Amino acid sequence: MLSRSLRLTSRQTRCLSTSKVLSNKTADYASEATRTVKTAKDLQEVTGPASLIGPGAKPGVIPTDLDQSTGLQRLELLGKREGIDVFDMEMPITEGKGTMADPFLVPTYIGYRYVGCKGTAQQDHKPYWMKVEEGKPARCWQCGTVLKAKYLGEPGMAH
Ligand SMILES: [Zn+2]
Repeated sequence: MLSRSLRLTSRQTRCLSTSKVLSNKTADYASEATRTVKTAKDLQEVTGPASLIGPGAKPGVIPTDLDQSTGLQRLELLGKREGIDVFDMEMPITEGKGTMADPFLVPTYIGYRYVGCKGTAQQDHKPYWMKVEEGKPARCWQCGTVLKAKYLGEPGMAH
């Protein structure tokens, strides 16, 4: 019993000294990490996942979505309050006419996006799925609609 507790103590000491060295080495990084991140009140203030944590409800009150939602749910909620559809669920394509000269522009953050074409206003057809990539326009074989990827991510990060 005595020897075991002794071993534990020595291990603890070692842990402490290691963390001390680490904290000295990465003092800048540590202060960065412990800095309190402000809860984003709108989309503009979102700085990363840590800013997507709500303030929580007061004791004895049922929390609202705005009080307690976190992460992607909170991001979506903040978007809805500003009328911005962050996941592009309603209308992902808003630019272009679908012609060779003026293709539909498909927003993407990874360099490509799968799009299902269901025809034109004049004539619809069964969904036809295309991989729309940067740099090469995709054409629907059913109705001739032309689509082009519009990369919105960081330059040089596309696949
Ligand atoms: Zn089509």
